[in-house]
Amino acid sequence: MSQAGETFFTVVGCMDGRVQEPVTAFGREKFGAKFADTITEAGIVGLIARGPDQNFVENLEFKLLVSIEKHHSKGILVDGHQECAGNPVDDERHKEDVRKSVEFIRELIEDKVPVTGVFVVRDGDSWKAEEI
Ligand SMILES: [Zn+2]
Repeated sequence: MSQAGETFFTVVGCMDGRVQEPVTAFGREKFGAKFADTITEAGIVGLIARGPDQNFVENLEFKLLVSIEKHHSKGILVDGHQECAGNPVDDERHKEDVRKSVEFIRELIEDKVPVTGVFVVRDGDSWKAEEI
């Protein structure tokens, strides 16, 4: 499944290519783990916050449990970001969607590992992840 010494964390976030690197860097630092198991949808926190259907939840739970139980994930990051095409709401609403998603995922995985929310913001030509 994975070799000894390979360490993982988990990202539940937007598919947007601009946020992948800053979120991965944030997670490596936060959890002291190297590899990001990444679960994405367009604007995923909007989907979760507004009440996902059963299939979505079962699929999400399966992926989270693979990451936690097979890869011994050290923690989960949940991200939202500015200028999101998949969840086009203002920043405050988007951050609230992240917080709701963090709570939802904590319950879904029964607090097996820590869950942290981040919001990714434009910083000139690059992007940076901020814990919320
Ligand atoms: Zn997005």
